[in-house]
Amino acid sequence: MKSEGQIYIEEAVRKTSIEGKYDVIVCGGGPAGVAAAVKASRNGAEVLLLEKEGSLGGTWTNSLVTWLMDIDNKTGILEELVFGVRSMGSLYDRQNKDYSFGTEDMKYVMEQIVVRAGVTVCYHTLVVDVVLETIRQSGKDKPTVKGVITESKSGRKAFLAHIVVDATGDGDVAVLAGCGFDVGEAETQIVQPMSMQALICGLSPKEVRPWCLNYESIPGEAQQNFRELFERYKIPISYTMPVLIHLKGDLFSVSINHMYNVPCDDVCKITEATISARREILEALRKLAVEDKYWSRMIIVETSNTIGVREGRRIHGNYMITRQDIISGKHFEDGICEVTFNVDIHDAENGAWSDGGVSVRPYQIPLRSLIASDVYGMALAGRLICGDFYAHASYRVGGNVLKTGEAAGVLAALAVRTGRELDQIPFVEVQKRI
Ligand SMILES: Cc1cc2nc3c(=O)[nH]c(=O)nc-3n(C[C@H](O)[C@H](O)[C@H](O)COP(=O)(O)OP(=O)(O)OC[C@H]3O[C@@H](n4cnc5c(N)ncnc54)[C@H](O)[C@@H]3O)c2cc1C
Repeated sequence: MKSEGQIYIEEAVRKTSIEGKYDVIVCGGGPAGVAAAVKASRNGAEVLLLEKEGSLGGTWTNSLVTWLMDIDNKTGILEELVFGVRSMGSLYDRQNKDYSFGTEDMKYVMEQIVVRAGVTVCYHTLVVDVVLETIRQSGKDKPTVKGVITESKSGRKAFLAHIVVDATGDGDVAVLAGCGFDVGEAETQIVQPMSMQALICGLSPKEVRPWCLNYESIPGEAQQNFRELFERYKIPISYTMPVLIHLKGDLFSVSINHMYNVPCDDVCKITEATISARREILEALRKLAVEDKYWSRMIIVETSNTIGVREGRRIHGNYMITRQDIISGKHFEDGICEVTFNVDIHDAENGAWSDGGVSVRPYQIPLRSLIASDVYGMALAGRLICGDFYAHASYRVGGNVLKTGEAAGVLAALAVRTGRELDQIPFVEVQKRI
């Protein structure tokens, strides 16, 4: 029990055993972390990949987000992943604009690619702190990340590295290292809603075709039809543009909810949102199965174990991609990929989305936005890279997060190989390898 006036307890100073030393440690095994680990390893680094869950893929697998966006102009690890999931029977078919995949297929393919690349993977391991040293350069002290501290069933451990890549989605590790960050819209502080997805089976793909994203001919048509289906039976749903995606056989994913104003670092609110989202999905789908003959054979396979976080922290890097950059279609001398996806803000107003009044011209992500500016020795990968609210709402999807992972992995390996700081690696060397 907390006694009155007491606001903290003091923990004993402790010695933590050093479990291993690596060239590169990648924190977070989502799509960006997988790409970073594989690329770092293929470029000669000894790599450790730390993941708090029991599989790779992050949002794509543990949150059941089963559709890849902004991939048409991308190659690299993306191609290995789609080749892998297709060969396992996932529907993915680029030519027909079907970008769906089965989550089990994606987990398996990612694990095989990572293991083949020689990456050491450690599941069920939460990164809880960093090892820092202060280095004086040009008359200024700057903290340098030298490793991470983890907690798991095996206890508290230290892992040392030359370079740490934060690919945790929410920037947990960068924040532990003292990096500055932004979150939400600058003026309102509003963050995009979280959503929970579900897998269902037992439906006939032919019969539910009008509601399926995979087969729509006009953008938004399937979602509109799906919404009308819920309206017809007066079933309330909090996402007014619900999504049904055919994955393989008679397996589908469903997204019908928005959980508003949930900060990525508040586990109590995330828990409330999780319970509420799960109840909404299960009650809505059960009612649909009772009311509609096409849906009567539906079996709910699972709801996602972790609720999907669209927006977490955006860590300060050596360049911040801005609203103006994406409106003007800015290209950079260190551009790692081109983003074509629009601004996609799932808003709190009407349960749908908007483009925030921004029209995107294809723009690039500069390598500098993947280098943490407040510490040495830390690269950034995935949705947490340095950008403003509007830019993040555009580059945060599939193809782009993979590319940031690839670039961060190559950059980290080159920094190890040459003994240079991340911002001293010539871009041309990175470009050749991504
Ligand atoms: C509801 C929703 C729908 C979306 N729809 C689409 C879509 O249709 N198409 C599309 O392309 N994109 C979509 N996105 C966006 C896209 O899926 C994500 O932006 C992308 O997955 C981000 O990848 P990431 O690797 O940066 O982060 P994540 O996928 O979040 O992965 C981060 C990983 O880090 C791990 N981790 C976190 N903290 C720690 C820690 N302290 N220690 C160890 N491990 C840690 C997590 O467990 C996770 O595995 C959607 C996102 C959401 C939430």
